[in-house]
Amino acid sequence: MDFRFYATGTNYQGLTNRFRKKETTMEKILRIDMGAEGGPKVSETPVGDYAGMGGRGLTSAVVSKEVPPLCHPLGHENKLVIAPGMLSGSHAAMSGRISIGCKSPLTGGIKESNAGGQPAQVLARLGYTAVILEGKPAGNDIYKVVINKNGVQVIPDNSLKMLPNYDLVERMKSEYGDKIACISIGPAGEMRMCAASIACTDMELRPTRHAGRGGVGAVMGSKGVKVIVLDDTDMPMRTPKDPEKFKQANKTFVQGLQQHAVTGQALPAYGTSVLTNILNEVGGYPTYNFKEGRFPGASKISGETEAELEKKRGGQPTHGCHRGCVIRCSGIYHDKEGNYLTKQPEYETVWAHGGNCGIDDIDAIAKMDFLDDNYGIDTIEMGAAIAVAMDAGLAEFGDAEAAIRFVEEVGKGTHLGRILGNGAEVTGKAFGLERIPVVKGQAMPAYDPRAVQGIGVTYATSPMGADHTAGYSVAQNVLKVGGDVDPLKPEGQVEVSRNLQIATAALDSTGMCLFIAFAILDQPETFQAFIDILNGFYGTNMTADDVTDLGKKILTMERDFNKRAGFTSKQDRLPRYFKTEPIPPHNVTFAVKDEDLDGLFNW
Ligand code: SF4
Repeated sequence: MDFRFYATGTNYQGLTNRFRKKETTMEKILRIDMGAEGGPKVSETPVGDYAGMGGRGLTSAVVSKEVPPLCHPLGHENKLVIAPGMLSGSHAAMSGRISIGCKSPLTGGIKESNAGGQPAQVLARLGYTAVILEGKPAGNDIYKVVINKNGVQVIPDNSLKMLPNYDLVERMKSEYGDKIACISIGPAGEMRMCAASIACTDMELRPTRHAGRGGVGAVMGSKGVKVIVLDDTDMPMRTPKDPEKFKQANKTFVQGLQQHAVTGQALPAYGTSVLTNILNEVGGYPTYNFKEGRFPGASKISGETEAELEKKRGGQPTHGCHRGCVIRCSGIYHDKEGNYLTKQPEYETVWAHGGNCGIDDIDAIAKMDFLDDNYGIDTIEMGAAIAVAMDAGLAEFGDAEAAIRFVEEVGKGTHLGRILGNGAEVTGKAFGLERIPVVKGQAMPAYDPRAVQGIGVTYATSPMGADHTAGYSVAQNVLKVGGDVDPLKPEGQVEVSRNLQIATAALDSTGMCLFIAFAILDQPETFQAFIDILNGFYGTNMTADDVTDLGKKILTMERDFNKRAGFTSKQDRLPRYFKTEPIPPHNVTFAVKDEDLDGLFNW
């Protein structure tokens, strides 16, 4: 299966025009100028040139067009764009992802960070294509934004200052009832740390789903907005233009997801942590701050172990992060006493605080997952910063108590906490370390780029910085989904990453969860059903070529923003030591040539 990556011919304006003519709901943009004279000013504008866009396509278009690339990410010129996907708020399965975009304080480039939970569906049903936070308040007040069928209120509420996310959401529940969804920041966002995330509440109204990457929480903090409370009571579902086509396509799509081994069996049973044993087996599980590719304690922190504990302690091994998810890769994790501790920690979270720090205590890792969510910190950046600190001698690898203490320091905003909370690169520089696994300032996730070279290409070239979700080459390198390319060799990796980056940029615009990719890459009829859902919803005749074209246009916009922000090919590189330091057990280095990386965006 391919996405017909090279066949184009439809220009972007033409593509969005086609959606524009048909779209009848979710047609306005809510802008809140937090820096307006006399206090925050709310306005609703027509979608205009942004019609027919959603998710990442929309956040990147707004940032690209409206944010000066050379502005300070925490200054008044930056904007925080929150956009549900094109299908969010409808009956389309898996369509509850939300995109949050801005100029990133972590990378200095364009950022789209993506989260699950309920807000995308609720915001879309409230009729908003996007909420854009603009300007910067003059004083130190913090605000809550309340959006419901009656309109929008921006209310100063300094009693919310420095509340962690769980307490904050409880407060909102007591004030606005339990039919709400929240988008919020914790203390890390208020302190404008570069690893600060934005939390989205799940179906149980817990702040467990995070737009984690790139410091988007710091930008929300700089706007003085603590929480956005969404209530879609009495608001209708978004309805398709061609209900019959939409319904049939959705049915075929769901069947396809259920019959695929990854989306129908592995992810529901073991969650994303099913990857722990797999990556460890292939020698691509970064261990001790990317020094080795296998972790002796991997089986103690695997998805199989997590699922077993969840069953035994009364948690839940299979759970969806939003209504309409049929894969349900998530879960609920209980502590030893059988009480709720956190949602099932994701593979990347378990790795970041686990093998990367030499920690094989799954309960300690789950506790750090809870703390990260509560303080509002990206779990990948946090774990990477802890591993760098350990490498610099601040604690021994494997010291779980020290790791927990480090996360708590971030929440308290101590001097050390402020270093760690600004990510792996700042931590490495503060303690004089050479080996810092970042690209464009953003920490690498849970796949070593030497043992899985395709993901190394994505880390190096993605406009977002090191990000596995930007082009998940692990699929073809390791899982052998949608193709089979030797993970240890450089040949073919640029093509794999290019195709996946294009497909992902488009997918991230629809509101669909990225995990549908396993089924649509392998099963042509499921891919066609995905396209037919879009066509049934919008009354269009989009083809696979149009999806490809959309992905390319988004990447082109993002690359152009970064170029205007001062990025050159120098930023499209892994740290040099990945080319010189072989990683055991395969003793390989990253071997993809620079000129091949520079040829990735070749359209
Ligand atoms: S598959 Fe997992 S991440 Fe995706 S929407 Fe469902 S629960 Fe959320």
